[in-house]
Order: sequence, then C-alpha cells, then structure tokens
Amino acid sequence: MERDAEAILREEIFQHLEELVGDTGVVTREQLWDFTLNGQTHRLIDRNRGIRNPKDMLATLSILSDPKGKYADEELHDSLFAYAYREGSVEGDNKKLRAALTHKLPLLLLRKIADGVFVPVPRVYVVADDQPNRQFLIALDDDLRMVSDPLKLQPLERQYAERVTKQRLHQPEFRGRVLRAYECRCAVCHLKHAKLLDAAHIIADGEPNGTPTVDNGLSLCKIHHAAYDENLLGITPDFEVRINQALLDEIDGPMLRHGIQEMHGRRLFVPAKDREKPGADRLAVRFAEFQAAS
Ligand SMILES: [Zn+2]
Repeated sequence: MERDAEAILREEIFQHLEELVGDTGVVTREQLWDFTLNGQTHRLIDRNRGIRNPKDMLATLSILSDPKGKYADEELHDSLFAYAYREGSVEGDNKKLRAALTHKLPLLLLRKIADGVFVPVPRVYVVADDQPNRQFLIALDDDLRMVSDPLKLQPLERQYAERVTKQRLHQPEFRGRVLRAYECRCAVCHLKHAKLLDAAHIIADGEPNGTPTVDNGLSLCKIHHAAYDENLLGITPDFEVRINQALLDEIDGPMLRHGIQEMHGRRLFVPAKDREKPGADRLAVRFAEFQAAS
C-alpha cells in the first residue's frame, strides 16, 4: 500500500474504533479481531503476538502493552513510552516498527487491562530507535514528534511528555478499569449510562495514596461525583451512603428528593472482586472529611 493511502486508512480505522469504544473506553479482543470498516474486515490485533503487522501495510498497525507482561513496556524512558524490541525478531517485527518511524505512520497502542480487554490509545508515533537499549521510543501524541532529541528530552519537553502520558495513558486506563469493575453503573444510584459516568478518585490524584488503581476509584454519575467531591455526599468505610444534614433538611424539587436525599442510608454498589472494592482506609479518610464539613 502506498504511504499516503495507508495514512488515510489508518485515520479511518482510528475514528471508527473511537466510535465503537464509545464512552466505556475499553475494547475487547473480539472487536479488534473482527473490525469491519466499509465492508472490509481489518485485524487490529494479532492472534498470538503483541504486535500486528498486516502484510499489505508498510508498517506496524498496533502494538500491545501489558503492564504485567514479560516486556517492561510500561517503563517510561524519559517520559516517552518505551517499547522493547520483540525477542527473536531480527527483521520482521522490528523492521516494521522502524518503517513506522521512517514513514511517520501513526499506530494504535493497546493497553491490556484484563484478559481480552484493552484500552485503545490511537495515534501514537515511533520517534526513535534506541538501539543500545533495544527498544523503540513511542510518543503518545502528535506534538511530541517535534522534540529535538527523543533520546534526551529537555526539561520542558519532559514535563509536557509526562502530562501527555497522564492524559493519554493513565487517565483512560483508570476510567476503563473502574467503569469495567462497576459494570458501567453509578455506585450510588446505579445509573447505567457510561456517558454520564466518571471514574472518581477516593483520595485525590497527587496526594499520598492517591493512586490510579481501582481500589482508589468509584464509578459515579456526574451529580454524585460532584456531590462526593464537595462533601455533600459521604461514603462510610463499610459502604453506606450518607447525605449532608443541611441538604437532607432542604425542600426542593424531584432532583433533590429522589436524586440526592433518597440516597441517604443506601448500600454502595461495589465490584464483586475484593481487590477491586474501594479501600476501607481510603474511604475512612474521605468520610472524616465529609463529617468535618457537615
Ligand atoms: Zn449516581
């Protein structure tokens, strides 16, 4: 395939994938395997390997990264994403990754969050072939292709790269993991509409213990997320919902009555797996803040 035609096809694939993924932010292996665009099937993932090199394309189409896998892909080298050379591939895989660099073709990064479930990050770029360390450096957005030397980022470039990593990788991953654990429902009111749900932090991002892990997350609808952040809604360490007393005493329309006051005393909906349940210690810290604000 010609370079420009391939660039256009890739963009069409990415746009269609973004629609398919919608607001849950995750995609399954089956969806990636049987991906249909304009009546044609494209395989966006390899059957067995972590890299997809379609025969009729000049360069690699997708790379898979498993934070728990044998390659240390998740390690960030100077804030760019490091993708280790594929073992045993002298020419094939690594050659096609090099082709992505030469032809400046965007790839799809697939972050594995569970068996057969991925958070897709389209439009990433190979920006350097770091031969001494046997890895490729991947920029997670377009602007990062312009850095002077990908192997040695300047302080401002590094700051920018870190912010991009957070926005393009860590935040979507957190959202995907949390929404999946909560079956795309609000933990308080059970609203089941991904577009109206947020992955809320129990302990804020940037504070000690404010990790982007499911046990520090809650799937909350927009209104309950805002109420939780404002300490108008509290959650006890044993998963009971409380509403601020002044708000309970207020008289207003159905949103206040059904949407907020009736949540008082309700059991929180939590994931079935213990390791995905909200951490009691973290809930306790936030519940103390809720009580202090009442
Ligand atoms: Zn809700």
